[in-house]
Amino acid sequence: MADNYVKLIDVDTGFIIVSSNMRVEIKYGQFAISLANSSCNDMYKLFSDFITHNHYLEMAQQLQKKSILPRLIGEDVIDLIFKDLYAPTTQLLAKDDISPQQAMAISRLLLHELKYNFMNDKQIDLNHLINYIPLIFVSDEVHQHIRKMLLTNTSAFTSDLQNEINQLNIPMSIMTLDDGTPVTVYEIENTLSYLVLDLQKYFLSKKRVVECHNCHKLFYPNYRKSEIYCRYKHADGSKTCNIKMQHSTDDDFAKLARRARGYQHSRCYNSSTQQKYNKTPDFLPSLYEEWSTECRQHHIYFKELDDFKGFQKWVDDTKFTANELEKRFQEYSNKK
Ligand SMILES: [Zn+2]
Repeated sequence: MADNYVKLIDVDTGFIIVSSNMRVEIKYGQFAISLANSSCNDMYKLFSDFITHNHYLEMAQQLQKKSILPRLIGEDVIDLIFKDLYAPTTQLLAKDDISPQQAMAISRLLLHELKYNFMNDKQIDLNHLINYIPLIFVSDEVHQHIRKMLLTNTSAFTSDLQNEINQLNIPMSIMTLDDGTPVTVYEIENTLSYLVLDLQKYFLSKKRVVECHNCHKLFYPNYRKSEIYCRYKHADGSKTCNIKMQHSTDDDFAKLARRARGYQHSRCYNSSTQQKYNKTPDFLPSLYEEWSTECRQHHIYFKELDDFKGFQKWVDDTKFTANELEKRFQEYSNKK
């Protein structure tokens, strides 16, 4: 029999996704995080390529136009058509902290949505892909929005998109588990409804994600809120950001600061620079002292964040090149 329902059972720490032959638990927020960390385009492309190159859908469209096929396509036919989409969808979803089993459950939900979009359409029109592709993969705007929300950027709550989300209506009921515990069950029509529930639960919980300073993905810190590198395994098999960035030890920061000081000092005190600015003898010493103080502050700041790249960038950006010296000199003269 066709798989015609998807339910979410709320179990206090996450949802169990239930479809006819599968039960998989996913922690609150995990779905939203996986969306924020993935590109909308990959999934959009997978769905749009499949739909536009599918021989059966093309045929159904033609037959409907000629009134040979009934206006609504049956579930069995649609199930057959989308069977082959299941594996590639699962493969795209299973990454970062989404396990293969969880990816399978989410794929079910996505294909369920896709299937109903086709079944409810009176006249198939393959030129209007937006009518069929699951809402959460139609535009990257949704992903950006989720990202902002997860990082609790308050502006995200007042946007038009949030208003749209607030209009959703999700049927729910109460069910009793085998041990007598009553739980809330949501009947889900599309992945957007799941996403909204997931975000709501995320905000009710106290845990918050942070952004990885290396790969910019969102992750739950394991030990401290101040952790800045994720532990996600990268698809290319390279080390996790957390391991890769560990090599920036205290020594590295100190070495870089020392090297930068040497460079800046020699730029200020070499004879040609001295000669160039000799009419304003206070300029170069005060410039160097000021920079040196800033360097000390930035050294401490970036070391606390364990952000070696950030410190390196600051050093590079403030290098006393000929142009930079000229610029600083103009600023110095204007202040006088
Ligand atoms: Zn990372």
